[in-house]
Amino acid sequence: MNVVALIPAAGSGSRMGTTQRKPYLTLEGKPILVHTLTVFEQCSLIKEVLLIVSSSDLEYSRTSIVETYKLTKVNKIVVGGAKRQDSVWEGLKALEGQYGLVMVHDGVRPFVSQGIVENAIHETAHYGATVAAVPVKDTIKIVSKEAEVVETIDRSRVWAVQTPQTFKYDILKMAYEKAYEDGFYGTDDASLVERLGMKVKIIPGSYDNIKITTPSDLVMGEAILKKRIVDS
Ligand code: C5P
Repeated sequence: MNVVALIPAAGSGSRMGTTQRKPYLTLEGKPILVHTLTVFEQCSLIKEVLLIVSSSDLEYSRTSIVETYKLTKVNKIVVGGAKRQDSVWEGLKALEGQYGLVMVHDGVRPFVSQGIVENAIHETAHYGATVAAVPVKDTIKIVSKEAEVVETIDRSRVWAVQTPQTFKYDILKMAYEKAYEDGFYGTDDASLVERLGMKVKIIPGSYDNIKITTPSDLVMGEAILKKRIVDS
């Protein structure tokens, strides 16, 4: 089955507080985005990678990321939109080939493993729609506008959702078309599929598969990389 990976990396990165955008900050000497793209480059089940960046990073990502690091599976780079959903939609619209599955993975989640990617592909071929997730470790409460607790959720049923989020191509295309028809915005890709009444299966993610969002995530990222070197 043909699998294409869409990598949205067009966020503004305002929570990081740096002038350089998050995907281009380095971890152990390599841009975060290179760490992420290398996982897909090395996965034999991924046929192509489509990278989505800000218009101001189009040239830089081509020369200093894709060409410099010889990421041969990245065959298209497109400009993203105002929100993550808009960026993924630009990627989906730019796909030209025939694909069985589309895997969406945040450019700023560099610690996704080959195992998670491969398992996501196998499980999505069966279920049609999967998201990587981990059980939450904290207790989760619903809180009112006045910051008063309304309800404490049964933690055993709450999962923190990550990427990759993987779908049969037709399902994701239909979900995005319907979302834009209805003016719906979700915070992940699966929520667009869920609102069509389709089932989305949870598959194992990893506590290491963090999204680099704030400066403390960079410190955590360095620690994860060091642990990997020690373990290997
Ligand atoms: O903003 P958020 O933390 O959800 O970003 C997740 C991923 O989506 C990041 O890799 C970010 O660069 C990307 N993104 C995007 N276009 C946007 C906003 C976020 O490609 N407009």
